[in-house]
Amino acid sequence: MRHSFLCAVLVLFMSFSSLADDQASPVLKGGWEHNFMLANLEFTLLHEFGHLLIEEFKLPVLGMEEDAADRLAIIVMMRSRQHDSAEQVIPWLFSVAGGWYTEWELKGKAQEQVDYWDNHNLEIQRFHNIVCLVFGGNADLLEDLMDTEILPFERAMTCEYEYKQALHAVNWLQNNYGHKSAAKLKTGGVKVVYEKPHEGQNKMIFDLLQASPVAETWAKRLSSRFKFPRPIRIEFENCASAPDAYWHAPTASVTICYELLSHFLQMAEYRRQHSARACGIPVLRKYMGDRLNCT
Ligand SMILES: [Zn+2]
Repeated sequence: MRHSFLCAVLVLFMSFSSLADDQASPVLKGGWEHNFMLANLEFTLLHEFGHLLIEEFKLPVLGMEEDAADRLAIIVMMRSRQHDSAEQVIPWLFSVAGGWYTEWELKGKAQEQVDYWDNHNLEIQRFHNIVCLVFGGNADLLEDLMDTEILPFERAMTCEYEYKQALHAVNWLQNNYGHKSAAKLKTGGVKVVYEKPHEGQNKMIFDLLQASPVAETWAKRLSSRFKFPRPIRIEFENCASAPDAYWHAPTASVTICYELLSHFLQMAEYRRQHSARACGIPVLRKYMGDRLNCT
């Protein structure tokens, strides 16, 4: 689950070099809000896939499953775009980190209670953990991020190790549970289905999804590399409760609320209107300045 109660997930995944080479990455079109939403959708899907892989393959998990799922998701995102330019990849990854930073900031403004007891890390910790992994895998590009407020020197010292450790886990998963040849597997094990969206915002989100098939792309990659004991469904739904996403083991389904994607769009707009701190960090300004309207 993205926010709290339900979710529980893992750390490892596919070697995204092999997965990513099959097909192009989901097409990136549109402006800042659109891409911010798609990047956070991709992260959310991969996080839930982490839960799915742990459950279906009964993987051993050391540490918090939710943290493992986050690490899996960001490593897979990095590997799947390893051949893209830094100007494409860095903003894509920092959109995800920025999502968590924004969640934390908005919670603080609303003076919401902080659930220290939860099985998810706090949003601000998820932000710093993602920044650390992105830095660990791109230390040459992001050297100037070290010793800034988002990556204190003490944490930066362990990021390359953390990145390599998570990458090793992902490769281990691929090597032990993945199929080397996609051609040997019948694809279609993971299907994407859409509940008819409510008119208005949910319909708008549905239309954006039809134009940017992130879920279909990842469903195909997952289907072609892993043989699951039962069919898996990714379901986009209208949700009456809080916007969320979650893996539901009894029905072998990943649910994504249209409302969560709408929430991502709103966070993107908020982030651009509150970009002074990010714009004050030169390396973020370099990669994100045009998107955040840094002056
Ligand atoms: Zn989760």
